Amino acid sequence: MRRPVDEVLAAGRAVDWSKLGERPLCDACLGRLFGKVGHGHTNEERGRAIREVAGRAAGPCWVCAGLTARYDALADLVARKLEPWEYDTFRVGSRIDPEVSAREESLWSDLALPAPEPLKAEVNREVGKRVCEAVGKEPDLAAPDIVAVLDPAFDHVDLQVNPLYLRGRYRRLARGVPQTRWPCRRCMGKGCARCGGTGKVY
Ligand SMILES: [Zn+2]
Ligand SMILES: [Zn+2]
Repeated sequence: MRRPVDEVLAAGRAVDWSKLGERPLCDACLGRLFGKVGHGHTNEERGRAIREVAGRAAGPCWVCAGLTARYDALADLVARKLEPWEYDTFRVGSRIDPEVSAREESLWSDLALPAPEPLKAEVNREVGKRVCEAVGKEPDLAAPDIVAVLDPAFDHVDLQVNPLYLRGRYRRLARGVPQTRWPCRRCMGKGCARCGGTGKVY
């Protein structure tokens, strides 16, 4: 029986890995080189599967410099930015450093890859998935109430709010109200990494 990663492995065997040279990649960036091959895996899973085929050890990533390991933290950042707003649907977008994009595009051409996925698409999906879990709202790629545009290089989030939603939807917090702790929405109060095990967040 064919395993789901078999087509990814086959695509990996077709590549001349000597062309990669001395450019270590993390699992996600390695897997993303085959990001449009096969369905139902994350790029990190693709990368783990393909690492042996590529004959490459993991190392400080030449493409993303650790960005793909920060999706949980970046999702927290987005979730906090969304916190004061009332909305039903959202989408996560991102700005990727042009130098990072240039590095990954140089790999696509050096390795002659037919079906890579850009880092931007992975960031939007992976952070979007985590935000969706954290805030309990639906992603809507076509016409969301709010688009959260993440700039991972600066840990910055800009919100673009659908004008139809601007009218009176912003819950202005009254001045002088003491900071309240809320049950952590990721673990529902049980305690997890996001809330430092306390089950509560500010
Ligand atoms: Zn990477
Ligand atoms: Zn928690």
